[in-house]
Amino acid sequence: MRRIAIVGAGQAGLQLGLGLLAQGYHVSLTTNRTGEQVRAGKVMSSQCMFNTSLQTERDLGLNFWEDQCPAVEGIGLAVPDPVHPDRPAFQWSARLERYAQAVDQRLKMPAWMDEFERRGGELIIQDVGLAELETLSASHDLTLLAAGKGEVVNLFARDTERTVFQQPQRALALTYVKGMTPMSPYSRVAFNLVPGVGEYFVFPALTLSGPCEIMVFEGIPGGPMDCWQDVTSPEQHLERSLEIVRRFAPWEAERCQNLELTDAGGVLAGRFTPMVRKPVLRLPSGRPVFGMADALVVNDPITGQGSNNAAKCSKVYLEAILAQGDAAFTPDWMHRTFERYWDYAGEVVKWTNSLLTPPPPHILDLLGAASQSQAIASNIVNAFDDPRRFAPWWFEADACQTFIREHLSQAA
Ligand SMILES: Cc1cc2nc3c(=O)[nH]c(=O)nc-3n(C[C@H](O)[C@H](O)[C@H](O)COP(=O)(O)OP(=O)(O)OC[C@H]3O[C@@H](n4cnc5c(N)ncnc54)[C@H](O)[C@@H]3O)c2cc1C
Repeated sequence: MRRIAIVGAGQAGLQLGLGLLAQGYHVSLTTNRTGEQVRAGKVMSSQCMFNTSLQTERDLGLNFWEDQCPAVEGIGLAVPDPVHPDRPAFQWSARLERYAQAVDQRLKMPAWMDEFERRGGELIIQDVGLAELETLSASHDLTLLAAGKGEVVNLFARDTERTVFQQPQRALALTYVKGMTPMSPYSRVAFNLVPGVGEYFVFPALTLSGPCEIMVFEGIPGGPMDCWQDVTSPEQHLERSLEIVRRFAPWEAERCQNLELTDAGGVLAGRFTPMVRKPVLRLPSGRPVFGMADALVVNDPITGQGSNNAAKCSKVYLEAILAQGDAAFTPDWMHRTFERYWDYAGEVVKWTNSLLTPPPPHILDLLGAASQSQAIASNIVNAFDDPRRFAPWWFEADACQTFIREHLSQAA
């Protein structure tokens, strides 16, 4: 039986581990927190996942919360009027072809850890560094590092060609709440883009205590939404969240009159630099370690793609491991497997990064045109499930103008 070691019990590591167990592999999964610790800890993400990614979970029988988790049925955008910032200059929304869902990782990962053990996997609680990677790689046919944003992933060299930014592009915050008035006529990610300030988006999700809404704040560093440093309690964090909504997206404030936090752990503030790393780490022994998901390609959450990428990465890797049969998992195989993932992830990175810098005129035209053409809105919204669909019209001014013209003439 082939022996696979995985480090990290997040979306990528657990999904791959569970997929390999189903195929009869021996899988050991080493992670640095118990399920209990994860459940009792702070929220880590807003983890909104779109249909193609959800399908990868369904395929492995891991969609345990599909019936309880509120569906995110669409995505909408509002941009404030520069003259009257208390109202949007334009506002539009469209339905997703298939719903998205966000299950709190504090709920999901401990349950998947239990399931991993129930299905015969070996779960080890240990903080992994170089020495532990040596031990794992000596006793396994393949060692994968899926440690997300953990310090250990810095052992992979930064890919300087594929990394665009040298510092964080947003000050991030999450606030998990109950009591928000739902969007009608369909639930959605309500995305508010405030030029020069940042973004605020909010959508329904499932947390430890049931349905909730997740408020996500993406403040431009040094700007007025980069404002979490002096917050010292969950209550203050909620209050600061409300201040931001009232000030920068007041049309959303009405929905927020009866908000309370889901729990004291339902808050997060931080920042990190979007980055791409080289996929293979050579240990001092010479044995290779293969990285996956956030450990190699970490995006700003502005486009909500990280968990989606992790699910898709685990699918690509699972197929590649199975296809390898009894052959060795060589560094060359690792590079080829990563490039297959990068064919997809590279497009996600390009699109996500494009939203972190001030939008060029054609994107402003496109976002404005979506309020006049439901087809344009629908194309933008449904490309979140597979950002390759944004090419070429998101990136190329000429292609974008043609795309807008064609759809506006149809709308007329
Ligand atoms: C504010 C915010 C909002 C987000 N919103 C979304 C969203 O709406 N949609 C979306 O798709 N994505 C979103 N993401 C991104 C998403 O959460 C991540 O991309 C995804 O969880 C990555 O999965 P992963 O398995 O690679 O890593 P992780 O989920 O981070 O898992 C890493 C695992 O490794 C373990 N670990 C770390 N270091 C070590 C070590 N040294 N030894 C042993 N174990 C270790 C950790 O405990 C954890 O179990 C968001 C992220 C943030 C920060």
